[in-house]
Amino acid sequence: MRWEIEDTPERTAFRTEFRTWLGDALPATWMDLAEAGDDAGLERLRADNNFNPFAWQGTIGRSPYAAPLWPKEHGGLSGETWMQQVIRSELVRYRLPTVSINLLGVGLAGPTLIEHGTEAQKERYLRKILSAEEIWCQLFSEPGSGSDLASLSTRAVRDGDEWVVNGQKVWTTIAQFAAFGMLLARSDPDVPKHEGLSYFILDMKSPGVDIRPLRQMTGSSEFNEVFLTDVRIPDANRVGDVGDGWRCARTTLMNERMALAGVSLDPVSFSGGVRRDAWQSYLDQIPDRTDRRVRQSLAQFYIESEVKEITAFRANSARMRGQQPGPEGAVNKVFNAEYNQRRSNFAVDVNGMAGIAWAPDDSKSLARATTFLRARANTIEGGTSEVLRNQMAERILGLPRDFEADKGVAWGQVTRN
Ligand SMILES: Cc1cc2nc3c(=O)[nH]c(=O)nc-3n(C[C@H](O)[C@H](O)[C@H](O)COP(=O)(O)OP(=O)(O)OC[C@H]3O[C@@H](n4cnc5c(N)ncnc54)[C@H](O)[C@@H]3O)c2cc1C
Repeated sequence: MRWEIEDTPERTAFRTEFRTWLGDALPATWMDLAEAGDDAGLERLRADNNFNPFAWQGTIGRSPYAAPLWPKEHGGLSGETWMQQVIRSELVRYRLPTVSINLLGVGLAGPTLIEHGTEAQKERYLRKILSAEEIWCQLFSEPGSGSDLASLSTRAVRDGDEWVVNGQKVWTTIAQFAAFGMLLARSDPDVPKHEGLSYFILDMKSPGVDIRPLRQMTGSSEFNEVFLTDVRIPDANRVGDVGDGWRCARTTLMNERMALAGVSLDPVSFSGGVRRDAWQSYLDQIPDRTDRRVRQSLAQFYIESEVKEITAFRANSARMRGQQPGPEGAVNKVFNAEYNQRRSNFAVDVNGMAGIAWAPDDSKSLARATTFLRARANTIEGGTSEVLRNQMAERILGLPRDFEADKGVAWGQVTRN
């Protein structure tokens, strides 16, 4: 990260405290090698110490520095936004991951449980989210309900102290590795769509959960279809009140936008746990940086990434003043998604033939192409750019709402295919 506010004595003291912790947590020569820019040395050290994103998340996740804004009693620091910024800049400086391997847990499930969960749920789940001992996924979207999420059909029917769930989810990222899922299901079909939803914690190993990976154009299977057949969930795993699932889901969705707005999604910059400076990694992909038009584009990307950082900081600061994540989450999510696409398009363009064909052992070209292909999803995942622009039009510009044919109509009475 290149944009930072100036250190005050308080910030300097916190930076020193975190650096001291890093010194104890990392292999002996790590910080010196990072300071010297010795990437090859760091790679060797990483291999010798079996240093990988899971191991690192275990280490930082058991410290209070993985989520400084979370309450102290649940593994955070009850801290302020600037602390998160200081930690991030130190992680970048020492070539460490700035994003948890348990992104959906730390970014989405954790904040939702902190806001809506019971004390028992917070106690049970939050620390294992931070340490990545338990990976989380998000079971919201369905084949017929994505942008119009509140129209979803998966049914949850109460049976004593349990709920019986039937339905199908899709696009469920990393479900195949997840211990738990944030599940949104319809508990009452006889009220309008937003009012009949409940939010559950689903143990992904429960009988009746069938996870089928989908292959995507990058070649990997990042997301899945998840079929739920007579899955039993204890009522103790319900988050929020019965019928109040939409309010909990909105917390998840707003945090998702904030999380996605901050992610660079750049595989070149994240090689097995050693995170190179994202901007430098990007520059390394550009073959001729003396060309004037190339330089002009790079300057523009640099400016845009600064704007992105500042907007994210402003949004985080607003949250720390007690405000809910607001429309700036949508603004930044749209901006980051489109920025990522423009940047990856440019990297492929300027590499000419090497942008589309490469030798089997050319891992840099493969990573560049993977970034380019994966970036197509950025304007869809976490809410499409079109739908987020609708939200901006309504909530920021005050334009009239879209026509809603099902407004006030019981979900069960609405015609659907
Ligand atoms: C890589 C990836 C990972 C994902 N991971 C998850 C996950 O882990 N968990 C999860 O629950 N979901 C996940 N999703 C799903 C994602 O949230 C949905 O894809 C997204 O909300 C869009 O829904 P849809 O695909 O059903 O498209 P649709 O809602 O069917 O939209 C189709 C098209 O119509 C446009 N459109 C729809 N409504 C409007 C409107 N009112 N005004 C203007 N245009 C409109 C959309 O912009 C889009 O172009 C993931 C998606 C991707 C791509």
